[in-house]
Amino acid sequence: MDFDLSDEQRSIADAVKRICSRFSDEYWSRKDAEGEFPHEFHAAMAADGWLGITMPEELGGAHLGVTEAAVMMNAVAASGGGAAAMSTLQINLFAPHPIVVLGTPEQKQRMLKPLINGSEKTCFGVTEANAGLNTTQIKTFAKRVEGGYLVNGSKIWTSTAQIADNILLLTRTTPFEEAGKPTDGMTIFFTKLDRSKIEVRRIPKMGRAAVDSNAIFIENLFIPEADRIGEQGKGFYYLLHSLNPERIIVAAGAIGIAQDALRRAAAYARERVVFGRPIGQNQSIQHPLAENWCAIESAWLMTMKAASLYDRKLPCGSHANAAKLLGGRAAFDAATQAVLTHGGMGYAKEYQVERLFRESILQRLAPVTEQLILSFIAEKELGMPKSY
Ligand SMILES: Cc1cc2nc3c(=O)[nH]c(=O)nc-3n(C[C@H](O)[C@H](O)[C@H](O)COP(=O)(O)OP(=O)(O)OC[C@H]3O[C@@H](n4cnc5c(N)ncnc54)[C@H](O)[C@@H]3O)c2cc1C
Repeated sequence: MDFDLSDEQRSIADAVKRICSRFSDEYWSRKDAEGEFPHEFHAAMAADGWLGITMPEELGGAHLGVTEAAVMMNAVAASGGGAAAMSTLQINLFAPHPIVVLGTPEQKQRMLKPLINGSEKTCFGVTEANAGLNTTQIKTFAKRVEGGYLVNGSKIWTSTAQIADNILLLTRTTPFEEAGKPTDGMTIFFTKLDRSKIEVRRIPKMGRAAVDSNAIFIENLFIPEADRIGEQGKGFYYLLHSLNPERIIVAAGAIGIAQDALRRAAAYARERVVFGRPIGQNQSIQHPLAENWCAIESAWLMTMKAASLYDRKLPCGSHANAAKLLGGRAAFDAATQAVLTHGGMGYAKEYQVERLFRESILQRLAPVTEQLILSFIAEKELGMPKSY
């Protein structure tokens, strides 16, 4: 058992950190305040080939594993850019995974190459307001017509739809009532985000303002057959290809937020003098930060274990979910403690920790909530009845 990163993995983290160091706290604060997509950061990461880290080499990718993608995402989030930096890249990293696995050679060239070289972006439309976490209840419907499909429906929380060129869209092609199984009858498309047929309304939200999230309304959108991924009716199963890698990468990013918050809190605790001594000399300041360190280290070990299982093609569902749970909590706890350690200044934008605090709770509830994670683990690892 080897707990160390390889030389190659360490060099990935170093190279990514070098790019991230060009984007200051001031940059991320401004993007957050103005709600503006970090195009410059996206372009810098694309220019050095990082958007294709897990993608096939023949398309310009590096064909590395989820472990390497997690190392990269951790370095990105820990750099000060937090969830905004993470989400700038995240959707393009693993949402198109069904295309990698099931796309035809023509689809891979047409759809993936522009995502890898950064000339195009995609958003990912799964969640619907009336379905919630019960994806089988989605209502967006793709009706078969000559040459393709006519789509009507709506999605919620579709991140980056303000700036995306494409949408990876989950639809029903057979109504729930007529599908053999609840998970049958869904179909995935990757298609142009045609703004004459798709209305995109931004949702004002608590944090990560630089990366927009939206309610979208689709009216009579024609999708050519060539934009369907895999077979009609099997979309839900295809989606599963991207879920575990997504959880692992999100966990690694959440841990990056935790590390950044803890680094800032420890630095402040060492320097801030009150009652004639550094506040970090008080155990009531030291201990919660030391606990954050323990939580971060254990979440990282779980994340690396899940990534290693995935990359060795072994079952990793429970570990990927556990990593997501532990990573999200580590982020939230460390960011909360960082604000408290700064006292009143924790509430000031100048010290950045309030931004991390606002972003950290998102790590607990998306892309899957803690409740659903625990229900899954109770069922799969503890043999209890399925509850969702
Ligand atoms: C900032 C942001 C960005 C997002 N980006 C995207 C995106 O790009 N694309 C996309 O498709 N989605 C996106 N999402 C959606 C996100 O994945 C969902 O919000 C999340 O999965 C939770 O689903 P929900 O909001 O529908 O919660 P609901 O399903 O309404 O659940 C509400 C609460 O009830 C709990 N609950 C529900 N059923 C059960 C049960 N059986 N047992 C126990 N507890 C239960 C949940 O755990 C949760 O706490 C984003 C969300 C946010 C906030």
